[in-house]
Amino acid sequence: IKTIGILTSGGDAPGMNAAIRAVVRKAITNGVNVKGIKRGYQGLLNEEIVDMQARSVSDIIQRGGTILGTARCQEFKTEAGQQKGADICRKHGIDGLVVIGGDGSYQGAQALSRHGINTIGLPGTIDLDIACTDYTIGFDTAVNTAMQAIDKVRDTSSSHERCSIIEVMGRNAGYIALWCGVANGAEDILLPEKYDYNEQNIINNIINNRKRGKTHHLIINAEGIGHSTSMARRIEAATGVETRATILGYMQRGGSPTCKDRYYASIMGCLAADILCEGKTNRVVGYRHGEFKDFDIEEALAMQKDIPEYEYKISKLLAV
Ligand code: ATP
Repeated sequence: IKTIGILTSGGDAPGMNAAIRAVVRKAITNGVNVKGIKRGYQGLLNEEIVDMQARSVSDIIQRGGTILGTARCQEFKTEAGQQKGADICRKHGIDGLVVIGGDGSYQGAQALSRHGINTIGLPGTIDLDIACTDYTIGFDTAVNTAMQAIDKVRDTSSSHERCSIIEVMGRNAGYIALWCGVANGAEDILLPEKYDYNEQNIINNIINNRKRGKTHHLIINAEGIGHSTSMARRIEAATGVETRATILGYMQRGGSPTCKDRYYASIMGCLAADILCEGKTNRVVGYRHGEFKDFDIEEALAMQKDIPEYEYKISKLLAV
């Protein structure tokens, strides 16, 4: 391997820059050239490719987002798009590629490896929804950002004796909602994986809690369930308790990465560079059972992940 490329794809996540920096510097230390590909697979197809040196990644470890930019690209889901991407890599002398993104991005990487380009995936997503790994780059920052925002809403909500519904990110995965639910002491937590909630139970819960003297009621709702505003209207009508919905939205994606996200992204980035320089392909790096390791992409994509039952149970039991 003489030259590798690096791109970020799918939703951006805090810590992606730390990963880019680690890949670039470790590969250069290994004697390999690095090219940065802007705007994910779309940028690859548009040949938005720049040379990167160790200094190209100076002063970025503390920044949120991704300096390479990211995009979603329909064309890359087609056989013709993938062939074109592989040809462009060859044209630019890129014989290995690090892809930082989620499951969708891994499928793109897998396609490129079928077309003869060595690829390694790094788990970059705030959703924690990649089955082969217990950690994804950006989750720690996002969940801390959401937790702090929820604390603030809770202050005002308690002062006004309101019920608050706070919607956090997670279309298909409820990890942010689960973690914030526990960490913020929510009375109710609604997760897309556990669509077992009953609005009447929540209403009864609010009424009973009021009788017992509780001054607030915090409901964490995952984006995948959504409809927070209409839910608030129904709950207010049924309980007589003033109820407000707050949708945290994109602020959860931004901001300076936490120490954990910088550290893990740095280690994973170095590992990805090393694996690629060794000539391995079609692998993804993960952190599992206390160890950084790599998996075959196909095996990684076939793995299943679900909210741990015990953690879900206690999330419902602690806010009494
Ligand atoms: P996030 O978790 O943030 O949504 P993701 O990587 O899963 O990240 P996707 O939008 O699913 O996000 O995928 C990112 C890009 O990867 C797509 O826009 C597309 O270019 C490419 N991609 C997704 N699925 C495939 C596929 N089946 N084959 C080839 N490329 C794909």
